[in-house]
Amino acid sequence: MSNGQLSELSKTLRERAETSIGQLREAVAHYKNVCYANSLGLESIVLTDLIWTAVPQIEIFSIDTGRLYPETYELMGRLQEHYGRALRIYYPETPQLEGWVAENGINGFREGLEQRRSCCSIRKVEPFRRAIFGHDAWVTGIRRDQSPSRGFASPVEWDGEYGLHKISPLLDWSKKEITDYIAKKALPYNSLHDKGFPSIGCAPCTHAVPSGEDERSGRWGWERAESRECGLHPQRQVHALAVSRH
Ligand code: SF4
Repeated sequence: MSNGQLSELSKTLRERAETSIGQLREAVAHYKNVCYANSLGLESIVLTDLIWTAVPQIEIFSIDTGRLYPETYELMGRLQEHYGRALRIYYPETPQLEGWVAENGINGFREGLEQRRSCCSIRKVEPFRRAIFGHDAWVTGIRRDQSPSRGFASPVEWDGEYGLHKISPLLDWSKKEITDYIAKKALPYNSLHDKGFPSIGCAPCTHAVPSGEDERSGRWGWERAESRECGLHPQRQVHALAVSRH
């Protein structure tokens, strides 16, 4: 991204964007094969813009679980039109998914935590593992204030679960900075955000929440708050690192 593209932003936003771009470039310099798991939420819009305009060496992919909102597919199309690039989309393995549905029913993920996690595992985690295979680091759009478990995250961590580094360049951005960036640059975003959805995942498992509530409360509303992670960011021990040390 040239300085001209950033100059339309406020000083604070410009500095945020420059810091994030610096982290992304540093990640590419150190880890070479870096990918971005694009969840198509508001943070993803900012990261997609930063990556496709400033650090295009990073491969962007999304996972189509088969249960997304129609508005999310609309957004995929609008992003591709806006940037003139195609998102790489990964899908669940058909035999696994067919077996799970046969055993648990089409909406069996509502029957308990085990069923919900096994559905997420087949529809999200397995395609994610395939997508990151061969990469040295993956980028996430998590922010500290999204949930108590994310408050302790570090910009660079060794992700022992998946065996690669995890880069989180938006950790210190506030929600308002994310939305200001999108508004200022007139970027496409999911229209459900204007209908009370702070976080958008699969249609049966995401709902609108009253303004000001914890963002993750819109996911799996029938579960306890501490279990509301999809498996891609489970609450596990990770080791904080500085990029320059590797
Ligand atoms: S969010 Fe819901 S529908 Fe989507 S993979 Fe997880 S349990 Fe299945």
